[in-house]
Amino acid sequence: MKSLWDDEAAAAFANDDLAMRVYTSRLLGSSDDLVMHGGGNTSVKATTRDFFGNELEVLYVKGSGWDLKTIEKPGFPAIKLKETCMLAELETLSDPDMTRQLRALMLDPSAPSPSVEAILHAILPAKFIDHTHTDAIVTLSNNPRGEAILAEVFPDCLVLPYIMPGFILSRQVNEAIKRNDPGQYRGIILMHHGVFTYSEDAKTAYENMIELVTRAEDYIAAHGTSEHPTADHPVDLLDLARIRRAVSNTRGSAQLAMLDKSPDAQGFASLPNVADIATRGPITPDHVIRTKRIPAIIDTKPAAGVPEIEQFAADYRAYFEANSHAELQILDQAPRVGIWRSAGSIAFGSSVKECNIITDIARHTRWAIQTGESIGGWEALPAKDIFELEYWVLEQAKLGKSGTPKPHQGKIAMVTGANSGIGKSTCEALAADGAVVVGLDVNPDVVAQLDGSGMTGMVCDLTDSASVTTAVEQVVARFGGLDIVVCNAGIFKSGETIEDHTEQTWDQTLAINLTATQRFLTATIPYLKLGINPSILVVGSRNFAAPGPGAAAYSVSKAGITQLARVAALELAADGVRVNVVHPDAVFDTAIWTQEALAKSAARYNMTIEEYKSKNLLGREIRSTDVARLLSTIASDTFLATTGAQIPIDGGNDRVI
Ligand code: ZN
Repeated sequence: MKSLWDDEAAAAFANDDLAMRVYTSRLLGSSDDLVMHGGGNTSVKATTRDFFGNELEVLYVKGSGWDLKTIEKPGFPAIKLKETCMLAELETLSDPDMTRQLRALMLDPSAPSPSVEAILHAILPAKFIDHTHTDAIVTLSNNPRGEAILAEVFPDCLVLPYIMPGFILSRQVNEAIKRNDPGQYRGIILMHHGVFTYSEDAKTAYENMIELVTRAEDYIAAHGTSEHPTADHPVDLLDLARIRRAVSNTRGSAQLAMLDKSPDAQGFASLPNVADIATRGPITPDHVIRTKRIPAIIDTKPAAGVPEIEQFAADYRAYFEANSHAELQILDQAPRVGIWRSAGSIAFGSSVKECNIITDIARHTRWAIQTGESIGGWEALPAKDIFELEYWVLEQAKLGKSGTPKPHQGKIAMVTGANSGIGKSTCEALAADGAVVVGLDVNPDVVAQLDGSGMTGMVCDLTDSASVTTAVEQVVARFGGLDIVVCNAGIFKSGETIEDHTEQTWDQTLAINLTATQRFLTATIPYLKLGINPSILVVGSRNFAAPGPGAAAYSVSKAGITQLARVAALELAADGVRVNVVHPDAVFDTAIWTQEALAKSAARYNMTIEEYKSKNLLGREIRSTDVARLLSTIASDTFLATTGAQIPIDGGNDRVI
């Protein structure tokens, strides 16, 4: 492992302990072989002044919610050092008491809570403490000969057996360093957990960490390999959607299923003994709250209901029964990782962010397992220890901050005509309600237009069936399925009577508004049938029920998609797919309403443009955001028992009513 220390950069922080702490913490954080997603923690001991100006010894230790990769000074709450050390001398200290006392020792009560490993940092007698969960060293300890290997590779380190993090770990280390002066060691290695290095100066603590990790890497290179098989297999997207549905049903809420089909993920999933080696346990118990203890192993061609997921849930219940004590509540029984034979590794989660974290951990885990196998065998901690951590209140608290789930959390949506108007607003509404949304548009601007959180713009000509199929397949390959489809794309040309309709207006209007909608449905229906509370939404028009002169092609196309939706509702009800139509009117903040079209329509009613804009019974102007909110609501569980409906959003129209 290469040191990233830069004397020149570090010189700027020479007189600022906390700034130096930020600098080397970020060096550690920049390598995900050392720490991943909030893992690992660092501290520095310094002197500061309290509110009254009195000098005070404090520990600045990583606060919860911060990541070493991006940490800044406010990420290190200051706690009173002497009193923190006194906590380690107690016979017992419950988790709630530890959390409360650490918070009580903070100089600034509004700072983030100190790391659960804060006491350990306090008692180690050095200024700078670095702690990582490095793959290479933990892999050496996850071996049948783990203790012997560590003794051989790290004769100058204090190696301690695994113990739960938190107070009891602090006590274990406190007792150990009373017997053995830590100054004589390069570092402290905690079996199945990680490494501490420490020094009076930041550079030595950091360089010692790099040196210890390099030794582990050298051992692996000499006795085994960290190069692993790769593979390249096609993936059946309908099977992926089936797997996603089974996991969502077991979890009780829609989940994304993000497949990693990289060559190394497929290589691992293709190993004949993958079911054996992948289910022995995680690299370190810490990962359990993200990934559960083990992945579900799914056959290359799973049976219709994907019984592997049911089996996983049953095994999870057995694991809970075997290890549970006191009054623990069982957590959900759905897997977070699926090893899909030959196809790769799937991350199941409620958001892209959560899935990305799971994918990263899964990638590191398969590296560690295969590397471990090459140096004599992969042996994780017993299930009992993993369970202790999974159901540890302090770990669960890290996950419990997400709040109430949004109505479309974990759902996957596609919207056509997404570059502007109702389409763009609908993408935003669905994303705000928790869905991941892909908006299609023929206009390449859509990519920049939908650059917000949870949204992706994709360029697609809806009149080209092959492009539509490709777009749908890309969405399913990326997120695992499809639940909500909004058929919105359309063009509008008025002012041509039937008598003088050009062939071009007629053909183009029907091709885009009607035929493309049918093609889009044909491409999406196989996946919607495997969706979670799936819903098709068709954007019709008031024009269907109350046509006006001079827009025959448009009116016919909207009547056509309304009829298409009614047939779809009949055909798809048995599969649980709802199909509903909204009929907006007078939504003027859309691309089809050019100033010219607006003027023509207003003139036809002998009105000014302003009068024309709110000419409905409620006298209410309708915006694309109003239509978007309605569409998102119809796609939600509120409308779970509604299909084949036509819902106007037109401010009330006497010709429709
Ligand atoms: Zn740790």
